[in-house]
Amino acid sequence: MASITVLYNQSRLFMKRQVNDLLDFVYPPVCGLCGHPADSDDRLVCRSCWNSITTIEEPFCLNCREFIETGVSCPWCDENAITVFSLGIYDDVLRSILHDLKFGCLKPLAEVVGAQLAALIDDKRQSLKLDMIVPVPLHSSRLYHRGFNQAEEIAREIGRCLDIPCRPDILYLTRKTRRQSRLSAAQREANVRGAYAVAKPEAVKGRSLLLVDDITTTGATLRENVRVLKAAGAGRVTAAVGATVV
Ligand SMILES: [Zn+2]
Ligand SMILES: [Zn+2]
Repeated sequence: MASITVLYNQSRLFMKRQVNDLLDFVYPPVCGLCGHPADSDDRLVCRSCWNSITTIEEPFCLNCREFIETGVSCPWCDENAITVFSLGIYDDVLRSILHDLKFGCLKPLAEVVGAQLAALIDDKRQSLKLDMIVPVPLHSSRLYHRGFNQAEEIAREIGRCLDIPCRPDILYLTRKTRRQSRLSAAQREANVRGAYAVAKPEAVKGRSLLLVDDITTTGATLRENVRVLKAAGAGRVTAAVGATVV
């Protein structure tokens, strides 16, 4: 995974977007990570790269981190414990995918991540009875610089795959938070405390929601968003993330 190859492919994929599908006739699709040919089903990431991800097939409990093999609630924790679907462990490949998605403006990668997550969630669909998909919001200044919210792009694809409405208008940030990646666990909790609010409480009352983010580490952001959603009257809130840092 030489960086020059990744850079080359990023620029080529960016260029490809600009001229839509025209370049597909000139260049066959290549994997955005390793540069090897990728068939169109793989959508930018080749099968061998996907196969090297440490995937998490079952949802886990954000409180005790045990897998939830049957049902959708942790048998060991109380009803406030959050059930999390995660595509995989935040390892080399998933890190590259989510990093490219966030900073390389490779929006199509969100479709890959979202579609894979939707497949995991689909297995528990009957029990979850989801009414809407709600992405964790990004502050407007970050949105301005980046051009899109990666959590929202993943959420949109999950919604498309499962035919459930995606509602980025439900949550908003009341203030700008510091980057969580540089903070300790205690600092993360303090950083997000009171930072999120529900714009449309009437829309979530009694509803079963799927909260979506790109990465979770300590779970502070997910917990805070679930807290405000529940305070606004939401029913069950399940979470889905691209990767989990362990
Ligand atoms: Zn590859
Ligand atoms: Zn638990």
